[in-house]
Amino acid sequence: MMIVKVGGADGNDIDNVLIDLAPRKDFVLVHGGSKEVDSLAAALGRPPKFLTSPSGVVSRYTDAQTMEVFTMALAGKLNTQIVARLQSMGTKALGLTGADGGLLVGRRKEAVRAVDNRVNVELLDVLLKNGYVPVVCPPAMTEQGELINTDADRVAAKIAAALKADTLLLFTNVPGLLREPSDPSTLIKHVPRDQLEYFMNFAYGRMKKKLIAAKDALEAGVGKVVIASSNVEDPVERALSGLGTVIE
Ligand code: ADP
Repeated sequence: MMIVKVGGADGNDIDNVLIDLAPRKDFVLVHGGSKEVDSLAAALGRPPKFLTSPSGVVSRYTDAQTMEVFTMALAGKLNTQIVARLQSMGTKALGLTGADGGLLVGRRKEAVRAVDNRVNVELLDVLLKNGYVPVVCPPAMTEQGELINTDADRVAAKIAAALKADTLLLFTNVPGLLREPSDPSTLIKHVPRDQLEYFMNFAYGRMKKKLIAAKDALEAGVGKVVIASSNVEDPVERALSGLGTVIE
């Protein structure tokens, strides 16, 4: 079982990943969509707000109004487009937010408004056993039925852990973890799990979230995590062959 997360920030080539994924079986796709959220928010005259935690992790600040835009952009638009595209390539894809079937139930955290979700594994098992590929995106929900923002990298890690996946692929708009974030030639190719803490020092902003997700996944028994570019031909094949940052 493989869990694939594709980024939604500017510079990601989601379609590239879908083309390479479609012929494969036994995977769950998770996606974010920050570019879609930002452009819809701008079109509606509601610019996004961000929070930075003391350790430097940047999170989207989501009040009730922003949550509406977030849900419209991710679940309404992007998720549906991804599902339709996979269907057109012969994959039995099924779109799910964290609210569908109570897939991701969590609670708000006081400070950062991030959440730690519980995954409804039974739902994923039912789908996977019947040949459906779950295509998952935030939001998650609370027990009380409130929609909440959640980080797609961490969702992917949680799902990988819950399904005991061998591999978690995190596709993004850079070749992997870079020693010098602005220089793609400084790719860190291999991070042994016991040195993950040290390598966290190289990651800023959103890359830090990917390393935290990788750590969570490995600690929960996932075999390996690869952070790789979505902007190359055959991105899945390449990532599986170890091109990118392999954390294991
Ligand atoms: P996605 O939507 O693809 O998940 P993110 O914006 O969440 O993308 O994360 C990728 C970004 O992390 C990169 O575009 C880069 O700006 C930033 N980043 C910070 N530190 C590093 C680093 N050491 N190596 C690579 N990227 C980094």
